[in-house]
Amino acid sequence: MAAPDSESLYRLLAENATDMIMRLDLDGTRTYVSPACRALLGYEAHQLVGISTFSFVYPEDLGAVRERIRLVSEGHGDQRGLNRVIRADGQVVWLESSLRLVRDAAGAPRAIVAVVRDVHEQKQSDARIEQLASTDYLTGLPNRRAFLKALEAMLDQGARCALLFFDLDNFKPINDIHGHSAGDAVLIEVASRLLGEAPPGAFVARLGGDEFAVLLPDSSIAAEHAKLLLQVVAVPIVTGGVVAEMGASIGISRSPQQGHDSESLLRTADMAMYHAKRAGAGRHMFFANDMEEELREKAVYKLRLRQAIAAGEIVPYYQPLVDLRSRRLVGMEVLARWNHPDHGILPPSEFIAHAEHGGMITPLFKDLLRQACRDASLWPDGLKIAVNMSPLQLQDASLSQTVLDILAESGFSPLRLELEVTETGIVHDLTTAKMVLGMLRNAGIRVALDDFGTGYASLRMVKELAVDRLKIDRSFVAALASAPESGRYVSAIIGLARALGLGTTAEGIEDAATMRRIAAMGCDLGQGYYFGRPRPAAELGPWLRGVEDGAPAIPEAEFNAAALRTV
Ligand code: C2E
Ligand code: CA
Ligand code: CA
Repeated sequence: MAAPDSESLYRLLAENATDMIMRLDLDGTRTYVSPACRALLGYEAHQLVGISTFSFVYPEDLGAVRERIRLVSEGHGDQRGLNRVIRADGQVVWLESSLRLVRDAAGAPRAIVAVVRDVHEQKQSDARIEQLASTDYLTGLPNRRAFLKALEAMLDQGARCALLFFDLDNFKPINDIHGHSAGDAVLIEVASRLLGEAPPGAFVARLGGDEFAVLLPDSSIAAEHAKLLLQVVAVPIVTGGVVAEMGASIGISRSPQQGHDSESLLRTADMAMYHAKRAGAGRHMFFANDMEEELREKAVYKLRLRQAIAAGEIVPYYQPLVDLRSRRLVGMEVLARWNHPDHGILPPSEFIAHAEHGGMITPLFKDLLRQACRDASLWPDGLKIAVNMSPLQLQDASLSQTVLDILAESGFSPLRLELEVTETGIVHDLTTAKMVLGMLRNAGIRVALDDFGTGYASLRMVKELAVDRLKIDRSFVAALASAPESGRYVSAIIGLARALGLGTTAEGIEDAATMRRIAAMGCDLGQGYYFGRPRPAAELGPWLRGVEDGAPAIPEAEFNAAALRTV
């Protein structure tokens, strides 16, 4: 189909001598980089070979770059797009890259050739770039950026317009079950149906993922149009042997009712969509003022949480991690608590999800890690800390630097840090997750897969992510006492971990019988109320003294007594 490998590479080279030319493996690893990279990125070619093309990409643009690599490697044709990168000197610059799949003689995909051009200078003026930057790469619709511009223009004219915020109800399973190309095909078809029904003067855009927006210059037809869209999207989509029956939810905001600025309109339409979805799939809903109240409460809560982090009200509690053979304390898991001036100690279930949605999970994580490093520096040598990470953080390419900075600043050894991440969050974005975890592991930090057995982690994923430890979910451990067959799961997980050379921690051990059973199965670490409940730093004395005394094992009674004394 395509020209032979060396020929097409040669041709691209000839055509683009001043551009940077790279050859990538199908997973994005650079196998050849032309010398122009010195001018573009400030690195020497040999420094980049063998390294993923996702490194140096500006975090916000990682998703788009990954998507382009995926599309090209899956045979969707040449891909071109813009993204920012961080140069060796720290400067952020815009690049345009063209990607082409190279196949071998038999037609099998073999590599990707990328031609990369510095477009930073022209970025502001060049109309072509403007267009590329305003277009959704997949559907060809205007993207969020272009949509906001159109919305602002319409509001400036004082139009009584309506914004329909359109979100597919059951898109995720399509992607999960039938794969991304089926998902792509569905999005392209939905886009074309939305566009096909657009009345004169309407503006249709893809906001991202499975979210679309339709801007109507006349709000009086909003309800009617929403109904029409729900009907057309409900017609089954047949693509590549898959019949997708899609539904959608639509939230509607209007100007002047919901304001004159794009931000208020988008926010209220989104809120209305959320209410429509909650009321049951396949409907539309206008924004109403009681939704505003909910918005306001959320905003207040968000602000309050931000203040709480700044004021040090989020504090670490520590729960012992115990070696099940020696019954020695080997470390502590760090569990977040909100020490609320009015409500007392609040558990993470009250605020972690809010922090995640409100974009505050990284500040919270940093704050806890800092406090935990400080506390743990006073503990006997070698005790490790295990800190929980939100799955969202694995999509942040700067995470490892953040962690290393905090460790350096507090003089805490990376070898004493373990990060816990739940398996559920990882699956969606394996490439970035792998990169982030790889960087952490290179620094000597260990990684545990939390709540193992409850998500969808496959064997392959466990291996690819190169985690160090599996934490067997509490539900399996709790079931041991009541349902004897659950023992088989626990021992299967332990066997799996052993075969892969991984450590195991059993969570939620609440009594001596369970501890003995789990220990006999060969699990190396245990955690649970039987050993002790999470406690604040100031109350760890009895446990830590046990370690300092060099006691061969932590007396059970001490743990239990201690546990009983806490909340
Ligand atoms: P997790 O990481 O699985 O943490 C273990 C949870 O089980 C803790 O609840 C702990 O108190 C509880 N637990 C420990 N032993 C026992 C036991 O023997 N029996 C029972 N019934 N429960 C036990 P906690 O502290 O409420 O934390 C709940 C979840 O909140 C954590 O689950 C973790 O997913 C999340 N979380 C906690 N701190 C943070 C944090 O700093 N960042 C993030 N992203 N998530 C956090
Ligand atoms: Ca955990
Ligand atoms: Ca857990």
